[in-house]
Amino acid sequence: MVSNRYYPLMPNKPVAIETQLAELALHLGRTAYGDCFSGGLTPAQWMALRFFARANRFSRTVSAFAEFHGTTKGTASQTVKSLEEKSYLKRTRCAHDGRSSLFSLTDSAQSLLHLDPVEVIVKATNQLTRSQCEQTADGLRQILGELARQRGSQQVGVCSFCHHISPEQADGRFQCRLMDESLDPDEIEQLCMRFGARSDPGGCVPG
Ligand code: SF4
Repeated sequence: MVSNRYYPLMPNKPVAIETQLAELALHLGRTAYGDCFSGGLTPAQWMALRFFARANRFSRTVSAFAEFHGTTKGTASQTVKSLEEKSYLKRTRCAHDGRSSLFSLTDSAQSLLHLDPVEVIVKATNQLTRSQCEQTADGLRQILGELARQRGSQQVGVCSFCHHISPEQADGRFQCRLMDESLDPDEIEQLCMRFGARSDPGGCVPG
């Protein structure tokens, strides 16, 4: 399908809407990356802080961050180590696997997140309506899911879009059937590396 609209990066030539979307996603990524040299951190360190701030208790590992960031475990490990040395990440032993370490943000890292350069982009989305934000997020989620499927990599997602979640229980908690664990309502929107996309793209916690 070809849009009648003209794409600002390639004037005077109609460009397929799919190509426009891919180019815009790349351009947004490059803009965000360029803005991320701030607060004494590199873009990779900011990405790690964001990941460990948003990841659930099954996913706060170096391996999960490596998968999420699309990098090697060695490179991810170096990034995590540098944040430990800056006292922005602290390490605890994983209850499910005694050989693994879990990482969480220190108080100073939580404070630093208020200066996260990605907030510039968050504020820019205020130009969109709620419905436009939801449709854009749905579309990007589907694109990332398809790329993960093609590459055989694990897709990252949240419980409300995952087929392993059980309906809300009488006490307001949820059940993860995969991990056989009860989940607090505030865990439902955390990032998970065990995520399995629901077949219906609407994706909400089943009632
Ligand atoms: S329901 Fe899905 S996303 Fe949530 S904890 Fe379980 S596997 Fe992870």
